[in-house]
Amino acid sequence: MAHILIVEDEPAIAELLAMNLRHDGHAVRCAADGDAAWLAVQRELPDLVLLDWMLPGESGIALARRWRAEARTRQLPLVMLTARSQESDVVQGLDVGADDYLAKPFSTPELLARIRAVLRRRAPQTLNAPVVAGALHLDPGTMRVQASGQDVHLGPTEFRLLRFLMNHPERVHSRSQLLDRVWGDHVFIEERTVDVHIKRLRDALAASGCAGMIETVRGAGYRLAQSPLASAQLTPAEEARPA
Ligand code: CA
Repeated sequence: MAHILIVEDEPAIAELLAMNLRHDGHAVRCAADGDAAWLAVQRELPDLVLLDWMLPGESGIALARRWRAEARTRQLPLVMLTARSQESDVVQGLDVGADDYLAKPFSTPELLARIRAVLRRRAPQTLNAPVVAGALHLDPGTMRVQASGQDVHLGPTEFRLLRFLMNHPERVHSRSQLLDRVWGDHVFIEERTVDVHIKRLRDALAASGCAGMIETVRGAGYRLAQSPLASAQLTPAEEARPA
């Protein structure tokens, strides 16, 4: 299940898109112009944006350019929609960093297949495929987690946090990024909340000896290391200190 933002000014098309995407299992929000879309993304980072080229006021392409210029939205998966089909427009759309491009009219199965392909490539955490990282195995379909073959029982937030980290292993995520991507709110939730849930996650993984896979990177944030060996030298005092 992905959070998808539809940016489309024609209500009939927006409604049809929303209905089809919801039917395909996604959570959908709609924005009718560039300003509304910008605000919607400021509030909550979607997994993918379906962006109409021709909008009243700021064009879809200008909006895409603005998102690509911001660190927070640089990687936002974008699928552009347009009535035009000239090659120069396609090139311009891909130049600005669109992940895919659909010319209207398009069929619903084609749209859904293209969106699934972009999600698989750019936001695999939204698909329900099991994830493996080092000794950890997580199955979103059954909500089961195993560490070194042992069942691990996690609360819903720890589950989402671990799922995100496992889908982006070895990369350092700041507290703000984790709030944005796991909690869906980087403005109103305190960054300390992340530390609380990281601690619970480590506690839950401790019995299987996998707690060390969740590394604190001082001054930067947290990282899931596929092999816990690198962090074996960390003393408990060092681990407890805020990054
Ligand atoms: Ca339009």
